[in-house]
Amino acid sequence: MRVLAFLLRLLAGSERSLRRMLQYWAATAVLYLVCIALLLVQVESGISEPAGAFWLTVFGGSGALLFYLLIRLSPRLRISTDQLAVSQAAFSLVCAAWAYAVSGPLRAAMLSMTVVIIAFCMFAARPRQTLALAAGAIACMGATMWWLATHDPLHFPPLTEAITFGYLSGALLSIAILTVEMSKLRAYLQHKKRELTEALETIRVLASVDELTALVNRRRMNEVLEEEQRRQPQGAGTCVALLDIDFFKQVNDRHGHAAGDAVLRHFAATARAALREQDVLARWGGEEFLLLLPDTRPADARLVLERMAARVHAMRVPGLEERRISFSAGLAARDPGETFADAITRADKALYRAKEAGRDRIEQA
Ligand code: GH3
Ligand code: MG
Ligand code: MG
Repeated sequence: MRVLAFLLRLLAGSERSLRRMLQYWAATAVLYLVCIALLLVQVESGISEPAGAFWLTVFGGSGALLFYLLIRLSPRLRISTDQLAVSQAAFSLVCAAWAYAVSGPLRAAMLSMTVVIIAFCMFAARPRQTLALAAGAIACMGATMWWLATHDPLHFPPLTEAITFGYLSGALLSIAILTVEMSKLRAYLQHKKRELTEALETIRVLASVDELTALVNRRRMNEVLEEEQRRQPQGAGTCVALLDIDFFKQVNDRHGHAAGDAVLRHFAATARAALREQDVLARWGGEEFLLLLPDTRPADARLVLERMAARVHAMRVPGLEERRISFSAGLAARDPGETFADAITRADKALYRAKEAGRDRIEQA
């Protein structure tokens, strides 16, 4: 199984877009194989000359292999997807014209291949490239038919060739227009998909971030706590703390709501800067914050909160330079087997005691 996976990675790489390109290549390779098998039958039954069929098989087969290598190495060679698609289609059109020349009375069947080649362009080529390829196909087949009709009119009657050319041109033009429409539709769908992904990302951010402070919001924090509970179902060693800004209502009443908002924003930025990578600070309510300190002993959690308090005291909010901002905190170490909800309730009681005791302090549950 691992050998198979290794071989697949070796042959098709690991990049999704490369694998998709190689899938298209595999589809054309199957078509080549079917054509080669039919060509052999034609040789066996005397319809086609062995020499012509042989060289066509060599040409088509080596071209297909060359395109496999070009696609496989395209990220390193920096060849774009549409360049590859266009050159592969142009090569296949030459093969189809050659097959037309060596297929005698069966030659009209080869024309279906040219139509299939143009239809393939809807997956990779740009609309202009598709139209150019269709024009190229008409010119290439027209030149082949004209050459055959002038050099071997017995087997390729000029009138038959001219009428066949008329039918082919009509078919190629129609399929080119359809292909262009399909590739436009594909581009539109891709664009919509990108827009949708971006919109989902915005929604995800809006649903998890508090707009005013840019901290994690309460909804997201509950998810974080659930994840932490799953990570450490019985685990102790995690601390939670509830923080509440002191006399915040006064800020609003004396300096206005906008000043209160500025205090909240500055407090959030200052407090967050005092934390470690693994700590999570969330806006839990108006001027109340919940801090999660994973794998932290209570003594260390207290140090974190003291460092935070010192920075908040030193913080200067524009327009409120005279005002010293402080917060009170209730700290609880999660007991073994305790839910976060219970630990937070204990932290809340400790916060109440900190307020009762005069504020600007940390009380432990
Ligand atoms: P204490 O020291 O006891 O915590 O007193 P306090 O004034 O900080 O607490 P209180 O609960 O009395 O007041 C909190 C105020 O926070 C009331 C509310 O209007 C205000 N508030 C809540 N959310 C916001 C907000 O987003 N922006 C602003 N500017 N004020 C808010
Ligand atoms: Mg308060
Ligand atoms: Mg409060």
